[in-house]
Formats: sequence, C-alpha cells, structure tokens
Amino acid sequence: MHTLSNKVAIITGASSGIGRAAALLFARAGAALVLGARRAAELDALVEHIEAEGGRAAAVPGDLCDESFAAALVDTAERRFGGLDLAFNNAGTLGALAPAHELSLSDWRATLAVNLDGAFCCARHQIPALLRRGGGSLTFTSSFVGPQVGFANMAAYAAAKAGLSGLVRVLAVELGRQGIRANAILSGGVDTPLGATVANSPEARAHVEGLHALGRIAAPEEIARVALFLASDAASFVTGSMVSADGGVSISRG
Ligand code: NAP
Repeated sequence: MHTLSNKVAIITGASSGIGRAAALLFARAGAALVLGARRAAELDALVEHIEAEGGRAAAVPGDLCDESFAAALVDTAERRFGGLDLAFNNAGTLGALAPAHELSLSDWRATLAVNLDGAFCCARHQIPALLRRGGGSLTFTSSFVGPQVGFANMAAYAAAKAGLSGLVRVLAVELGRQGIRANAILSGGVDTPLGATVANSPEARAHVEGLHALGRIAAPEEIARVALFLASDAASFVTGSMVSADGGVSISRG
C-alpha cells in the first residue's frame, strides 16, 4: 500500500526509535525522505538500508538547537527531491530530570530548546515550502506527559510538550485554508533509548508498563503507524488534533 507515493517528507529524530521506524515505514509507503538527527553514521546507515529496499532518502546531520539545521532539511528536500509535502517533527529529548525547584534555568532552557524551539524552527522553515507545493501536513511527536498528565521530575519536558499542543492548534488555524494540516501524537511509553531512560531497570520498566491500560509500552513501529496515518490523505479531515497513541496510560490509574 503506497499511501505516500510521490510525496517528499522530512523526518527528524530519524537516527533512533520512533523516527527510525517512521523512516522505514514512510519509505515503504513510497515517500522520498530527508532524514535529520545529530548522529551522521546512524543516518547514513539508514539511508543505505532504505536505498537497498528500493526507496529514496538523504541524510542531513545537525542539531535542532541550531536554526540553520531546520533550513538545511527543507533545502535538501527541495534541491534533491523537488519540494516538500510533509514533515514528521519527531526529535526530542527528556533533558535533565529533577524536581522543578532543583532544575537549573540552563537545563530548563536546554530541554525547551530541543523539544519546543526546535519544533517551532522546523515548522517555520517547512511552512513556506509546503505553501509552494500547495499544501501538506505537519505532525509533531508529543507525549501524554504535559498535555494530559504530570510526571515528577519532568517539568521542562512536560512544559515543552504542552507547548507543542498550543503550537499545533495555532498552525492548524493559520494554515488550514491553505491546505496544510497540523497534528500532534500524544505518545505513551515506547521501547526506545529515550524510553529506557525512565524504564531503566526491570522494576522501573514493570512499573511504567503497569501504568498503561494495555499493560505494556509500545514498539516504535506502533507510533510510526499513527504518524503514517496522520501524514497520509487518509487523515485528510484531521487537523489541530492531539492524537493519543498511549496504550491507555492517560486514562488509567494503573
Ligand atoms: P530516541 O530513540 O532517543 O530518539 C530521539 C531522536 O531525537 C534521536 O534520533 C535523536 O538523534 C534526536 N534528537 C535528540 N536531540 C536532538 C537534537 N538536539 N538535534 C537533533 N536531533 C535530536 O527516542 P524516541 O522515544 O524515539 O523519541 C522520539 C520522540 O518521541 C521524542 O519527541 C520523545 O519526546 C517522544 N516520546 C517518546 C516516548 C518514549 O517513551 N520513548 C514517550 C512519549 C513521547 P541524535 O541523538 O542522533 O541527535
């Protein structure tokens, strides 16, 4: 099923976890991909993998804290593949974990810089390219932490992810009539290196799994499939939405 045939997509955070799974899925759905993250070797290996499967992809290594990275992703989409149709702004970091009153301002800012400023910068550079194409879609990876639930030691992460909800709603209103949709995925726990930071022992993992109504955390592919849906025309009337893909963690008391 080639739901993204002839589409060009940017995926950030493609070197690992959800972003890597989305890259494989989007490529198999027919999209040409621009893959971003800091680790060049991981991106190059992923491009090789996608090309070996007959797909098309380009790696753009860079740091989301640097606005020129957002510009380079768009530039590569337009120069290499002729335009941009959609972006999965997925990269993120938990940042420093500490009670709010013990979190330094610089640690707070560092977490927001990647999760919120980085997502904003990506959108800021992607929107003109989507408009040049006559429409498209923006999807952001958010979390149940922040928009729905408070989690101790995650003040900056929660604030950043809650901030994404506001950003997505405004983008949806500003851009809807120009054919651009904007949505966020409120993910539950996922089996990735970031997820393992919280589920960092068998006991901690069992505790985190027990918070979810499904009694487990997600495989990265399960979130990537939601991203594929939101990116595709199957979601043509979905915009401004916070789409929960959280195994029921936000509605469960464990
Ligand atoms: P992951 O495997 O650790 O992947 C995080 C990705 O973000 C990596 O590709 C990383 O690449 C990239 N990244 C981090 N900081 C960056 C920076 N400064 N500049 C550019 N790229 C950067 O974790 P994941 O679970 O797949 O996370 C993906 C998204 O899901 C994040 O937004 C996260 O908040 C969200 N999420 C995850 C969970 C979970 O339980 N895992 C739950 C809810 C939401 P480099 O290190 O190569 O730069």
